[in-house]
Amino acid sequence: MISEAYTDALVLGAGPGALAIAAALSQENLRVGVLAASDPREPWPYTYGIWGQEVDELGLSHLLEHRWVDTVSYFGVGSLEPNSDANKPTKHGRDYGLFDKKKLQQYWLKQCDDASVSWHRGLADKLDVDKKISTVTTDQGLTLKARLVVDATGYEPVFVKAPKSGPIAVQTCYGVVARFNQPPLEKGQFVLMDYRCDHLSSSERAEPPTFLYAMDMGKGRFFLEETSLGLAPPLTLEKLQKRLHQRLENRGIKITSLEHEELGLFLPMNLPIPNLDQPILGFGGSAAMVHPASGYMVGSLLRRAPRVAKELASAMKNENASPAELAAKGWSTLWPPDLRRKQALYQFGLEKLMRFEESQLRDFFNSFFDLPKKQWYGFLTNTLSLNELVRAMWSMFVNSPWNVRFGLMGMQGREIKLLWKFLKPQ
Ligand SMILES: Cc1cc2nc3c(=O)[nH]c(=O)nc-3n(C[C@H](O)[C@H](O)[C@H](O)COP(=O)(O)OP(=O)(O)OC[C@H]3O[C@@H](n4cnc5c(N)ncnc54)[C@H](O)[C@@H]3O)c2cc1C
Repeated sequence: MISEAYTDALVLGAGPGALAIAAALSQENLRVGVLAASDPREPWPYTYGIWGQEVDELGLSHLLEHRWVDTVSYFGVGSLEPNSDANKPTKHGRDYGLFDKKKLQQYWLKQCDDASVSWHRGLADKLDVDKKISTVTTDQGLTLKARLVVDATGYEPVFVKAPKSGPIAVQTCYGVVARFNQPPLEKGQFVLMDYRCDHLSSSERAEPPTFLYAMDMGKGRFFLEETSLGLAPPLTLEKLQKRLHQRLENRGIKITSLEHEELGLFLPMNLPIPNLDQPILGFGGSAAMVHPASGYMVGSLLRRAPRVAKELASAMKNENASPAELAAKGWSTLWPPDLRRKQALYQFGLEKLMRFEESQLRDFFNSFFDLPKKQWYGFLTNTLSLNELVRAMWSMFVNSPWNVRFGLMGMQGREIKLLWKFLKPQ
């Protein structure tokens, strides 16, 4: 007997991944249930950034809380002499935005509510899948049945399995929202990466580099975040905190009132693509959808959820389709061979960057942002075709100085394996 709580799809989780796919499935007129560990209306812990063009193309710019036109990075060494070339900003010429996280959440929740998605509370604990149905049992003993389970429980998913691929590179950051004795960046500015390092001693400059991600939030408030690229093992929070204070002190900047401190945020960057032959589907962090170079995912969730939902709705028209067949359809839509190839290339690139010393990284990013805007933007948002991505990476290579080219050429660690995955995705 099928219980009352039987749906076409049961989505696990209540983060952006879960809500994006639940909303998209509900728009396909499927019966959708969501099992969330907490209230799905609870505010998310993070605020999500996105490039302006991405939200414009999705028609969702009204979901932004802030939008910056003056977007820059610094790849010089820096100097206390303000007009020095070492302080020269690289102007990106592209808008950047921060989602109003409440509006973004509401955008997906409204679609779910309008389509009568059923909400359940609890921690998914056990999964049984047979030829007809999947059954999830919660830690409190609630049993929910669905034709397909979508595990969107984040980077350490409860059920989705992935192959082992070695150490996971983790991006760490330490951030503050605060007021300062003098503006730490120019009025109305967004800084994607400030790699200036004149606040560090030469021995500190030999350690893994960090950069400042910063924005003017208006009304005298600024968000500053000292960040490391993905590293294995990751950089400690203490180190990042110290680096941020050194950076500020060097320029005579002091925090006058601290509104919020972001402690210990960890983002795994090079997660392996999960096994594509399992009888449940993943979505979001659980499905390794985070961009290995940028750490971003929300744009990708918004673009990919409707596509996956459409294909699943079509596969579900066959009433005899098993959970394994439905999941296979979902996985092949989410991770077609070209996207898997691109993922291998991105992860290959990240492996290289993890080994770069500070001056190589600054030169690397200088060359990267010298690429035509369409190429670097497409690279960072994962919106280039495979051929375009290869062309962009090749242009980047040939236009780089020799220290960067040498760094890109030497093969170490799992780089050969990743190149093999690019040639022959499993
Ligand atoms: C610090 C940080 C900053 C980021 N910044 C950006 C950014 O600026 N832009 C961007 O695009 N991306 C960003 N990302 C990447 C990505 O968008 C986020 O990590 C996003 O939160 C991932 O969404 P998710 O739904 O897959 O996972 P999560 O947000 O981790 O949500 C997982 C959900 O699953 C639930 N859950 C867990 N276990 C169970 C269980 N057993 N049963 C039921 N529910 C369960 C949790 O309660 C939670 O609701 C950032 C990530 C981090 C860590």
